Amino acid sequence: MSKNKPHKSALSKHEGVSQNETTNRAAISKFLNKRNKDFSSDALANAIVKGDTIALSRAITLVESTNPKHLQKANEVLAKCLPYTNNSIRIGITGVPGVGKSTFIEALGNNIANNSSKLAVLAVDPSSSITKGSILGDKTRMEQLANNPNVYIRPSAAGTSLGGVARKTRESIILCEACGFKYIFVETVGVGQSETVVHSMVDFFLLLKLAGAGDELQGIKRGIIELADAIVINKADGNNFKNAQKAKVEFNRALHLYPPKPNGWVPKVLLTSATESTGIDKVWELIEMYVDQAKKESFFSKKRMEQHTFWLHQTIEDRLKSNFYNNEQVKKALHEQLTAIENNQTTPFAAAQYLLSLVSK
Ligand code: GDP
Repeated sequence: MSKNKPHKSALSKHEGVSQNETTNRAAISKFLNKRNKDFSSDALANAIVKGDTIALSRAITLVESTNPKHLQKANEVLAKCLPYTNNSIRIGITGVPGVGKSTFIEALGNNIANNSSKLAVLAVDPSSSITKGSILGDKTRMEQLANNPNVYIRPSAAGTSLGGVARKTRESIILCEACGFKYIFVETVGVGQSETVVHSMVDFFLLLKLAGAGDELQGIKRGIIELADAIVINKADGNNFKNAQKAKVEFNRALHLYPPKPNGWVPKVLLTSATESTGIDKVWELIEMYVDQAKKESFFSKKRMEQHTFWLHQTIEDRLKSNFYNNEQVKKALHEQLTAIENNQTTPFAAAQYLLSLVSK
């Protein structure tokens, strides 16, 4: 995918966070400082658990802030919200720009919200650090969903690292759960490792695809099929319907080449037309079937615990790594050691041992 090509997203309507990191940070700080006096972490958490989405937005803004004071407050709010979490179904939705994510999310989302279930839609957008944020740049196609009183839509936080964006999204999920959102969609575009990151924070992972001309399996990112709990071939309408059916057969064949998932689930392939709203109910039935099975066989909570464990280790690794590389002594010695390696005066292993010894004194 072209790095600079703007792409559309389901999450493009709400103004949320601007693309520019500096302006962004300044705006967040201004917003929070102005209101911080009136909103203690207790008041925020109490309002959130009562379903107040203004408080929810404020708390997510705290989570997204880089100001240490805001982060401390965010942690307090999160701690108070934690007892009210874990009651949602988290669904990851990914696919290349143009595949129809916003249209699909609108169709599926309206189905859910019209049944008076509360739905939150969040995004993981690592492209905001790579392309300076294209996910929010477009005008929305989700007018209807955005105006549904049961729906909360929040664009992704801009971030400088995928790890940072992932933390913000995970913490936003917790806040949405505490606010009573039964269903949480996490949308991402297939940039960098974003699918892997989203996969590790959702219960069900859905890959949107388009039918090509018989070469469906080419160009598919390696590994992504293994992540998917369902592959949905969108735009199965008009002249494209036959191709979509063909693609379904090919994907099904490909899926059988993979071993079943550890929980025994065999991913399914479905056809939809998001514009005509066909096949959407089948997707929903499938998700419900998965969740029922997962809860009955208790791999639902097991998977969430594995995800917690993953994120604990990931966060520790990230922090250790950044502490190491930001250490002034290391920064200086790293260059010297690289020169020494180049001149055959040391080995990479001995150099690593020496560099690590600088921080473990
Ligand atoms: P996104 O970039 O993945 O969010 O894709 P969009 O939802 O913005 O859709 C991209 C284009 O595909 C738009 O012009 C949509 O109207 C169109 N589109 C989306 N879903 C369908 C579909 O099921 N059938 C057809 N024919 N067009 C669709």
